[in-house]
Amino acid sequence: MTTTSAGPAPLEQSRSLVTAIPGPRSQALAARRSASVAAGVSSTLPVYVARAGGAIIEDVDGNRLVDLGSGIAVTSVGASSPEVVAAVAAQAADFTHTCFMVSPYEEYVAVCEALARLVPGSHEKRSMLVNSGAEAVENAVKVARRATGRDAVLVLDHAYHGRTNLTMAMTARAMPYKTGFGPFAGEVYRVPASYPLRDPAGMTGAQAAARAIDVAERHVGADQVAAIVVEPILGEGGFVTPAPGFLAALAEWARAQGIVFVADEVQTGFARTGSMFACEQEGVVPDLVALAKGIGGGLPLGAVTGRADLMDAVHPGGLGGTFGGNPVACAAALASIALYEGQDLAAAARAIEAQVRGRLREVADEHPAVAELRGRGAMLAVELVRPGTLEPDRAAAAQVARDCAAAGVLVLTCGTWGNVVRLLPPLVIEPRLLDDALDVLAAALRALPA
Ligand SMILES: *Cc1c(COP(=O)(O)O)cnc(C)c1O
Repeated sequence: MTTTSAGPAPLEQSRSLVTAIPGPRSQALAARRSASVAAGVSSTLPVYVARAGGAIIEDVDGNRLVDLGSGIAVTSVGASSPEVVAAVAAQAADFTHTCFMVSPYEEYVAVCEALARLVPGSHEKRSMLVNSGAEAVENAVKVARRATGRDAVLVLDHAYHGRTNLTMAMTARAMPYKTGFGPFAGEVYRVPASYPLRDPAGMTGAQAAARAIDVAERHVGADQVAAIVVEPILGEGGFVTPAPGFLAALAEWARAQGIVFVADEVQTGFARTGSMFACEQEGVVPDLVALAKGIGGGLPLGAVTGRADLMDAVHPGGLGGTFGGNPVACAAALASIALYEGQDLAAAARAIEAQVRGRLREVADEHPAVAELRGRGAMLAVELVRPGTLEPDRAAAAQVARDCAAAGVLVLTCGTWGNVVRLLPPLVIEPRLLDDALDVLAAALRALPA
């Protein structure tokens, strides 16, 4: 990889602490923040960022932390990837905005062409671009309702789809996402997910799908349902990987009933799980796919891609938004997609899985607080419980995240009960740096009370 001589020196890919975490400058910024930023906006790790590169975040006190979160699965091509930075700078110099609905530009079209090529299925496809994952999910629902003439939307237990009014209704967890924010959008119905750790022992994917379908048919009626919206691996809900066959059985039922099958690949998409999209590994071809997070290499962009007959069922002017498909974000997406494909970052994700499983297997097998090590590719997690039970232990996950942070490793938590520690490293992380961070994580897990 080359960097231009005019650019800043690349950030050294090593962990280094020169102050306590957070350091004095971060603490000073925290004081300014509490007087100006709304309290409802919280941060996992109150370390203020000065620079980021690859898998390293350098804070305002000069500490270098290993980033195992990628800004929630966004900077999968590495933070401030030189290719993305160059594409953004060049596009910003040409023009930053015209509004695609006012006067269009090639970059938007090129992203839609790339999505048609990459998203599973050989059918004809169309795309629309938006600013966020929630907006992508909302628009997928709009398209499904318009195309089917039906109202109801099915979602899974433990689902996360965003924070707008419709996507709050679709999200499962009340606190912190929904509490006090209702009334929510109507015609959203929740059905059970496949959660192998907590389902009856031996329940297959087909059985879990039959359980979900039974609830849908009794409570809603299949002929009322416009769409079923599914995360191939539940993200905020705890990186819950459904039993094999669950997604395929739901997709097959949806097809038979004229229900639009929407894969919310906002978190799982773009090489994260070891293939360009997670659905591919289940042999499922969704009707519509909602995308965001990793698509733009750090710039805000989302998309809905799907069957041309469904997408084109919407009347002209029915879809859009002022900023949707911003040209700078599109340029970043085109550069990122070139990296996902050109550097085979899906293979990198599979290599990360092998390394993480190798490194954490022993503590996961032996420590009674670790109920499960699960996930796929570079989307992996440990679920923590009170030893000897399946009772979720939120405090243990918080403790592990705190211990990691204190040692200079950023890990995120998730899960319906907040008891899951999740790993979403940039796919370009160097094996040596990942090993170093995993040593810290393994030590934090071992330190939990047995
Ligand atoms: C993050 C996420 C969203 C919401 O994306 P935003 O860009 O935060 O609106 C939707 N679905 C899934 C699966 C996500 O992980």
